[in-house]
Amino acid sequence: MPWCGPCDRFYNPTSLTEHGQCPSCGDQLAERAKVPWHFWLVLALAAVYLTWRAIQGIMLLI
Ligand SMILES: [Zn+2]
Repeated sequence: MPWCGPCDRFYNPTSLTEHGQCPSCGDQLAERAKVPWHFWLVLALAAVYLTWRAIQGIMLLI
């Protein structure tokens, strides 16, 4: 439950602004949705793998 210090009250996560800020004072309460670092790692590995497979495919055609 996000707690706002300046307003001295708890907020329902759904009553916060879309950026996770206090609707009264605008304090940043909720952690903004962040993409975990391993998501990018998996994405990078998948890109490398697909690039490699694409190169292999092109090599077969030559
Ligand atoms: Zn507040």
